Amino acid sequence: MRFLIILFLLFQSNFLNAFELNGEIIQGALIVGKEQADKSIYVNNQKIKLSKNGIFVFGINYNQVGNVVIESVDKNNQIISKTYKIKKRQYKIQKVDGLHEKMVTPDQESLEIIKKENNLIKNAQLINSDFEFFSSGFSKPVDGVISGVYGSQRILNGKARSPHLGIDFAAPKGTDIKSPADGYVTLAENGFYFTGGSIILDHGHGVSTIYAHLDEILVKKDELIKKGQVIGKVGSTGRATGPHLHFGVNWFDAKIDPELILK
Ligand SMILES: [Zn+2]
Repeated sequence: MRFLIILFLLFQSNFLNAFELNGEIIQGALIVGKEQADKSIYVNNQKIKLSKNGIFVFGINYNQVGNVVIESVDKNNQIISKTYKIKKRQYKIQKVDGLHEKMVTPDQESLEIIKKENNLIKNAQLINSDFEFFSSGFSKPVDGVISGVYGSQRILNGKARSPHLGIDFAAPKGTDIKSPADGYVTLAENGFYFTGGSIILDHGHGVSTIYAHLDEILVKKDELIKKGQVIGKVGSTGRATGPHLHFGVNWFDAKIDPELILK
């Protein structure tokens, strides 16, 4: 009898109490999971935050290959491990012509400025807060047609440049940009070299969103934002050939496909 009970408990801990994942394991995905809050979660051997509501999240970078191994460890060191193969994607090639040459091949002085700005952006994206705003989902930040997709290899004025790791919405200058989720402003800066007027919102556990090329910024750093709140206006500041919103999503430094979280 005792043996049967142990067998039952083992069965239960391995199968009935396994964590849940929401989403397909594909390049660019943001996966939200659920597990009992007293456990610990590891993604490819890296411990990630599990909220007091039992929510966790992780992302798959645009060029990440191989497997994702998720381990859930309880207080008795019992491990439930699941391995998922990352589905690869085919990305497009996007040619953009008519950019000012200094936006394609910046001079040494500009490269120094770009480096500093990229560090500010990166530091904001590496924040690991306890907010759980990401778990309520994301709405479209602007009314506009998608004019640039995620992952495209870019040829700017005929020169190969880094891939486009967000999406572009074409919209008239001055169009309202609405926060797609509750968030906390970790960066609000005008005049960045490439991204122009720029905002970064933290949605918790390393999930952040970036808004670029803004004509106007209507929020301040360290401000708490509600979903649907107008945070700025569409513009064409920085490296842009016309008014549009560049919208990016990150899990720490992993670049997430915004189209996958807006679905
Ligand atoms: Zn863009």
